[in-house]
Amino acid sequence: MEKILISACLVGDNTKYNGKNNLSDKIPLLLEKYELVPFCPEMEGGLKSPRKPSERVKDRVKMSDGKDVTKNFEAGAELALNICLYLGIKIAILKENSPSCGTHKIYDGTFSGKLVNGMGVTAELLKRKGITVLSEEEIDTLL
Ligand code: SF4
Repeated sequence: MEKILISACLVGDNTKYNGKNNLSDKIPLLLEKYELVPFCPEMEGGLKSPRKPSERVKDRVKMSDGKDVTKNFEAGAELALNICLYLGIKIAILKENSPSCGTHKIYDGTFSGKLVNGMGVTAELLKRKGITVLSEEEIDTLL
């Protein structure tokens, strides 16, 4: 079975900033065709759950209290890439709107709920390295 890297929160892991998850009802269908490799770049980059929300502006990521967590986000992205390379993973399904995982949209950095066009740190790195990056809203294209 082909392996797919997937945001851990989409398979039900409580890795979100608020201690919850984003379980997708498409997981059972995906599991019929693929082996899923759950990964949370923010947790693997050294952050805890729950944690303060973070937003990305250009190359920096900050928490809502102003703490710069760019290094955590970059570390998580590098680990995600290493896993993809090690396991021969060519596709990643990542959670839209996240400063790590967003594939088309991210929040604008003002913590006011406004979305802008852009990618999360991990999504951008994986795409740059040739991995097909899809959001959870595009899962149907794989089924
Ligand atoms: S960093 Fe990605 S995998 Fe982790 S909780 Fe946020 S969206 Fe989910």
